[in-house]
Amino acid sequence: MAEYDYLIVGAGLFGAVFAQQAYEHGKKCLVIDRRHTIAGNIACTKIDNIFVHEYGAHIFHTDNKQVWNYINRFACFNNFVNSPLAYAKGKLYNLPFNMHTFYQLWGTKTPQEAKALIKQQCEEYSKIIPTNLKEQALKIGGRDIYTLFIKEYTEKQWVRKATDLPAFIIKRIPFRFVYNNNYFNDRYQGIPVEGYSYLVEKLLEGTEVKVNTDYFDNRVYFDKLADKIVFTGCIDQFFNYEFGKLEYRSLRFKHVSLDIEDYQGNAVVNYNDANVPYTRIIEHKHFVFGNQPSTIITKEYPEIFTSKSEPYYPVNDNKNTILYKKYREKADLQKNVIFGGRLGTYTYIDMDDIIENALKVTKKELIL
Ligand code: UDP
Repeated sequence: MAEYDYLIVGAGLFGAVFAQQAYEHGKKCLVIDRRHTIAGNIACTKIDNIFVHEYGAHIFHTDNKQVWNYINRFACFNNFVNSPLAYAKGKLYNLPFNMHTFYQLWGTKTPQEAKALIKQQCEEYSKIIPTNLKEQALKIGGRDIYTLFIKEYTEKQWVRKATDLPAFIIKRIPFRFVYNNNYFNDRYQGIPVEGYSYLVEKLLEGTEVKVNTDYFDNRVYFDKLADKIVFTGCIDQFFNYEFGKLEYRSLRFKHVSLDIEDYQGNAVVNYNDANVPYTRIIEHKHFVFGNQPSTIITKEYPEIFTSKSEPYYPVNDNKNTILYKKYREKADLQKNVIFGGRLGTYTYIDMDDIIENALKVTKKELIL
């Protein structure tokens, strides 16, 4: 008999929801994480009374009522609505692409005017089935929007050509003909007022957690500890890169404390031009309507992924999708290992999907 029912590798959102559900169903879990903190990439640190999103902006949004109800058991969410700005060629514009943006760009005042202009610009792409991000963006938004807001930003952020990226990435951003700057279409949205780390702490209540503990430092030992493993790290590393290395998009975050009340007047400002080295600046206090006397901003720099950098985003292009399929097939044969999270399933998914997936997996695993 192993000491634990489940060894959960990774104290991020997937691992924490799994642990919570397992605990609720009387299972004994051990959660380990190689970092010195819990909460994975949604970790927040309180500095000068401001919750700093250590690994970039995380705005919770979902259309799934079950997920919303579930997560509200563990945190109190505020009514933050993400309305980022885009700084391009010396001017500020509203995002996502909506009537405000079109007015700022072309002076169009009505949806009819904006639609007519965009239709003209999209003409040559209207009949094609987009095979990459560039074609998809041109088909939806036309030449001006692609050139000013998408091409340079995307190529800077992903460190690859827009023609080498999958079309679905750009479909994440709403495109609408009403005056509405809400970046998301989802019904529920907000930020946990006590920070994401506290939310994860709540999810992990009752479960044994060991940080500074790397599964790969002693796999043989850890594998013996539990009947099953829930693995949320990189799937290619789990299989010792047997079929080759998957590619990820990495980032570098530069946090700066400023002795001023307000730096940019908004939580998120994107910098769309190629000659600005960072992709966005976030000002953390605005996520929770803070009125502290000072502020903290974070500049997000794209970084090429190496063995020394952190994997933040999977690169779901053709080459990596084929490679991932091989790992997936192998993963499906592992009867005692459950793969979850962005890295474990090599998918570009948001927090709500992670929770939904974890609830589905635990339902199958623990309840049925
Ligand atoms: N994007 C863009 N310009 C922007 C914002 C986003 O071209 O001002 C593109 C970019 O390719 C990005 C994708 O849209 O990867 C999805 O944006 P989102 O804000 O959802 O990215 P995330 O917050 O997940 O990094």
